[in-house]
Amino acid sequence: MATENIKEKCGVFGVYCPGEEVARNTFFGLFALQHRGQESAGIVTSNGEEFFQHKGMGLVTQAFNEKDIDYLDQRGGFISIGHVRYSTSRESRPEYCQPVLHEDNLVALAHNGNLPSTTRLEEFLSKINAPFSHLNDSGMMTEAVRYYLKKGAAIEEAVIEAQPLFTGAYSLLMMTKDKLVALRDQCGIRPLSIGKLNGGFVFASETCAFDTIGASFLRDVTPGEMVVVTENGLVSQQLQLPNPKLDIFEFVYFARPDSKIMNRRVFEVRQKLGMLLAMEVPADADIVIGVPDSGIPMALGYAKASGIEFTEGLIKNRYIHRTFIQPEGMRNQDADLKYNTIPEVLNGKRVVVVDDSIVRGTTQERLTASLRKAGASEVHIRIGSPPDRYPNFYGIDTPRQKELIASRLSVDEIRQFVGADTLRFLSYKSLISATEIPEENFDTSCFTGVYPIDIKERASEIKLLLPV
Ligand code: 5GP
Ligand code: MG
Repeated sequence: MATENIKEKCGVFGVYCPGEEVARNTFFGLFALQHRGQESAGIVTSNGEEFFQHKGMGLVTQAFNEKDIDYLDQRGGFISIGHVRYSTSRESRPEYCQPVLHEDNLVALAHNGNLPSTTRLEEFLSKINAPFSHLNDSGMMTEAVRYYLKKGAAIEEAVIEAQPLFTGAYSLLMMTKDKLVALRDQCGIRPLSIGKLNGGFVFASETCAFDTIGASFLRDVTPGEMVVVTENGLVSQQLQLPNPKLDIFEFVYFARPDSKIMNRRVFEVRQKLGMLLAMEVPADADIVIGVPDSGIPMALGYAKASGIEFTEGLIKNRYIHRTFIQPEGMRNQDADLKYNTIPEVLNGKRVVVVDDSIVRGTTQERLTASLRKAGASEVHIRIGSPPDRYPNFYGIDTPRQKELIASRLSVDEIRQFVGADTLRFLSYKSLISATEIPEENFDTSCFTGVYPIDIKERASEIKLLLPV
């Protein structure tokens, strides 16, 4: 059933640029967005007459080799969209690789986000007799747009007609044979930015992808905006009033530190989070280490504000990725494969360990044990965000609420579970203040349980908890 296929977090990239090797650019763009999804990758190109595609399971470099890119680029394409996908084991099926492309080649679609409810789309697709039971939310959105295209609408019109059926989070790239369209939901839950490349335009989930291919950042797609690129250039239409609610977890964990979101460099926000953490919940310690990679900017901030030396005590295997792990059964071993300690650094030391978040508690439980084994005399865990107590319905893979350790246990119970001497989280107020963006411009649901886009029937999965 469609609602089972929801736990996706993804990256999208698109380019409209005659004269460029668009597939190659998309390949490198997706490569820069690899952290947003490791399960499958796909690229569709158009030369104005025909679509060409290549998709595969795994990392971008597993799904594509040089020949695949050459094949696409030798077809004279000037438009391309691509997608990297992450999902949980159950949804690990080749047919869900994106971009979504029907064999009639009317439109290709790449989606980052998630529609918590697809009721409206299902009703519409039933009404027009389009089969949908085999489709996920992205597939259903494509079907709705295709319906209007088949009736002869231009892509802009088709998107305007279909959009009211999309109830949730979507940063979308769509292409027809001669147009590239970007569309972001009214809340802009997932990021999407526009760049310029040699007289053409590029789009990416994160700006780090522009740097990789030598494109320059132009601006973010505004929440509720549709941007259309044709041979005449770029045209923008504000389809819905913007009500910005970026998922704050992009700043905490998800986005790459070298990306800019809402004009803030993610690294700087994370460093600030670490500084506020040091001021709010200091520790009596000898060294500060971060949990690589995502905890490092916060650990640097913590060290800077506390005056305690930053060092590397944990090393992460850079080549580990989700596709190589059996998701459920191996989750514990996962941490062992991922991290190793440096005993000479840790032996006899009181250690502050900084990480960005605690989800199930597995990482910290394993790490605390290995830090002690390496000789750490005290382990003080500091987390650069508040307790994560509510699941995400808008496109990040967080588990069901009961699997979130902070939804079941108090902070001190978590400390006991992970075996640390002390454990402290950053306050919600400091999280907001580090971003220097007003609270009302964020989706903070994973911390507060307040969901800015109606999660409809899925609200029954949530238990509201007393504030910590
Ligand atoms: P835990 O081990 O508590 O389940 O997860 C915490 C660790 O997972 C942290 O080191 C954090 O950087 C990372 N993390 C946080 N959110 C996510 C997510 O949505 N997906 C993945 N794969 N890791 C996450
Ligand atoms: Mg981490």
